[in-house]
Amino acid sequence: MDLYVGDIITMKKKHPCGSQEWEILRTGADFKLKCCGCGHLIMVPRKLVEKSIREIRRA
Ligand SMILES: [Zn+2]
Repeated sequence: MDLYVGDIITMKKKHPCGSQEWEILRTGADFKLKCCGCGHLIMVPRKLVEKSIREIRRA
């Protein structure tokens, strides 16, 4: 799966703030994601990101 910094991904699970969209800030073994709803930052293993992606939007 090709994922790049700046991509907006839609996850299957909703963040508590109600948003399902995350912006990729860093790729690698662990991804750094920013919630598009509240700006919350998380680190997620790549495997988990790939498993829970529903849609990718690229600018
Ligand atoms: Zn959020």
